[in-house]
Amino acid sequence: MFANLRFFSNVIEVYPITLQNLAFLTSIVILLTSVFIFLLSLVCYKYTIKPILILIFLISSATSYFMDSYNVIINDTMIQNLVRTDVGEVNDLLNLKLMLYIIFLGIIPSIFVYKAKIKYTTLKQELLSRIKLILISIAIMALVLISFGNFYASFFREHKLLRFYTNPTYYIYSTGIYINGFFKSASTPRKHIALDIKIPSTDKHSKLMILVVGEAARADRFSLNGYSRETNPLLKKLDVISFSNFWSCGTSTAYSLPCMFSIYNRSNYSNAKAQNTDNLLDILQRAGVNILWRDNNSDSKGVALRVPYQRFKAPHQNPICDEVECRDEGMLVGLQSYINEHKQGDILIVLHQMGNHGPAYYKRYPPAFEKFTPTCKSNQLETCSKKEIENAYDNAILYTDYFLSKVIELLKQNDSQFETAMFYISDHGESLGENGLYLHGLPYFIAPDIQKHVAAIMWFGKNVEGINVNLLKQKINQKYSHDNIFHTVLGFMKAQTAVYDKKMDILH
Ligand SMILES: [Zn+2]
Repeated sequence: MFANLRFFSNVIEVYPITLQNLAFLTSIVILLTSVFIFLLSLVCYKYTIKPILILIFLISSATSYFMDSYNVIINDTMIQNLVRTDVGEVNDLLNLKLMLYIIFLGIIPSIFVYKAKIKYTTLKQELLSRIKLILISIAIMALVLISFGNFYASFFREHKLLRFYTNPTYYIYSTGIYINGFFKSASTPRKHIALDIKIPSTDKHSKLMILVVGEAARADRFSLNGYSRETNPLLKKLDVISFSNFWSCGTSTAYSLPCMFSIYNRSNYSNAKAQNTDNLLDILQRAGVNILWRDNNSDSKGVALRVPYQRFKAPHQNPICDEVECRDEGMLVGLQSYINEHKQGDILIVLHQMGNHGPAYYKRYPPAFEKFTPTCKSNQLETCSKKEIENAYDNAILYTDYFLSKVIELLKQNDSQFETAMFYISDHGESLGENGLYLHGLPYFIAPDIQKHVAAIMWFGKNVEGINVNLLKQKINQKYSHDNIFHTVLGFMKAQTAVYDKKMDILH
């Protein structure tokens, strides 16, 4: 009754409460209840009933908070995000309202379940009554579906999405899908690609690329792309190329990140395939490129497992931290000495930003960047006005503008020794309350463009060879996506391999 408010409110949006729809809407309640009774009757027995119900109450109380507040769907990607989260991310989400959900929809019902005295009769009678219960619930489901056949045909076909909001059935189903995929990928052997990769010895110049993986940065919030607010005061003074028509592979970090470094295109990509195949970093490392991954976000989502990896989340790892959190800028400290130590050969440094990680955008920048005010100072976005959320979000973009300008400054210092380049791409976009949606992570086919249209910026040093920056500037409105990253970085490194596709290389 209580954990499905989002489901029913979405149903009512499609089928408004009118005299005509009333019977159908009532039937959904009956159907959903029968489905629950049917499913639970299959698994709830003397020793399992209490643990199962308590577990479902506790998990559903939290999922219903996120579904009610942010309109999210708990699909297999969301389960993966959850499995791959960290304490910092969880802290950002904790708040009083979530606690109240857990207490009232989780803990209190659980106490009732725990205390309930269940009378058991003989095994034979128990079985008989269980069979009766199962048959009756099936009969009710069938009766409801048949009586409202037309309604349910449209409900299941045209409004497929609605059933994704049922709680707990959909998250249980999603967990099954996730576990299935997990075992599938664990049992498949690793696929090595680009075994022929080499950087020709004729290529005398060392290359230094800093690839910045942004977090939840929407293309339309960058003044470089025409946003009315000045959110790129520093980058606009540098000779950067901002691609205004760049699209993400997924709508969440856990999905997009492995995809960005994978040879697979979005159309044939799956997380399981990516985790089992050599990625861009693996093959460049094989070609002799020095790789370093620095992370101020949750982690590399499996991308940097076989290359040098440094965490920057905690004060003992990151030299630039304040009371709120450790800053992206800290990842730049000590990079110059790393570069000095690797003068032989090419260098690819990946910096994984905290960027615009929601919902606590106000935590993502130091006080000096609080330019747009007033800001939303809560992780309960629905309690803030749209303006306050946008202000906090835009301030975080301002900080990224500053951070990227610092990256470029560092590269400029190495211009005489290297062919230098910065390539910044965000992992996905973000909803800031448009159409009642917040954050990101909706299934790709229904996610609004703002969750998929990402910021992407390039910068090149004076000594790069074979790249026509002016020509590149004519391509800023062309449509590109995460699919292009793999081949573009290979192209910049002048790596030779049969898997390189020059048509996918933005620089070609
Ligand atoms: Zn992300």
